[in-house]
Amino acid sequence: MPKTAPASRPATSARSSSARTGAVAASEKTAKKKPAARAARKPAAGKAAPAKTAKRGVAAKPLATGKRAAAKPAAKPPKPSARVDATVRERAGAQMKPAQIEDMFARLQALNPHPATELEYTTPFELLVAVALSAQATDVGVNKATRKLFPVANTPQALVDLGVDGLKPYIATIGLFNTKAQNVVALSQQLLDRHGGEVPRERAALEALPGVGRKTANVVLNTAFGEPTIAVDTHIFRVANRTGLAPGKDVLAVEHKLLKVVPDRYLQDAHHWLILHGRYVCKARKPDCPHCAIRDLCRFPDKTPGDPEPVSA
Ligand code: SF4
Repeated sequence: MPKTAPASRPATSARSSSARTGAVAASEKTAKKKPAARAARKPAAGKAAPAKTAKRGVAAKPLATGKRAAAKPAAKPPKPSARVDATVRERAGAQMKPAQIEDMFARLQALNPHPATELEYTTPFELLVAVALSAQATDVGVNKATRKLFPVANTPQALVDLGVDGLKPYIATIGLFNTKAQNVVALSQQLLDRHGGEVPRERAALEALPGVGRKTANVVLNTAFGEPTIAVDTHIFRVANRTGLAPGKDVLAVEHKLLKVVPDRYLQDAHHWLILHGRYVCKARKPDCPHCAIRDLCRFPDKTPGDPEPVSA
């Protein structure tokens, strides 16, 4: 990862319009709650959250821990230091101000004016299949599979003709490929039966497809149809909470908050900017705070130490 903000990564071509936007889900309907739960628990792990802040924002789990501790006072109750106490308060309540949010997106936009997904596709159907395959898999892995698959089958009818057993060898390197193969063929059949072989533009119709949940629907609506939706994956969940942009205890709460606080003119691309930022800068284990373009705006109390360095476009 170069020492530039994620947003600075150049967008790839059409078939490679990209960004791990996709990081979204395939077998979403079977595994969609895990990332959120993990992300929500993370902050809690390292800190002993004081009980009095237990009900507030970001650190839902940590706070819950603090709450339990308060309900059953131990013989030797831990006495949180002033620093920890301040840290938890900041995590719980450090909602970024509108002016800071405006500044944040203005910077992300300046670094990457045209963000895109890293999943390779040329049609809405290819994007739908790619996103459906991307749950718990990398975009790189999905692209490797679809580069072989799409030349052979990139329409609902072709996928149905290929069948589950015919599809599996193309996606065998992707996690959960058995379930994903069944879902992709089933959703292809449903597109033929109910939508004339076209990918519907309505959320309800998308979410009715086998293996397609809210996240996948949001990605398709945003990336294929230009709707101002935000698919909250583990990266966006983390960034929204750490920065104070849109703290929330689960992905749906974060999504609703993002739709509320992100200025209208940034909504269309916010999804990609936030995913790229989470993937390449605000990484889960060790955020690259010294090279972060929004470091001074971010409310995360445990930034990675280091002298701030310039972020180039
Ligand atoms: S300053 Fe650090 S924690 Fe905050 S957004 Fe940047 S990388 Fe993430």
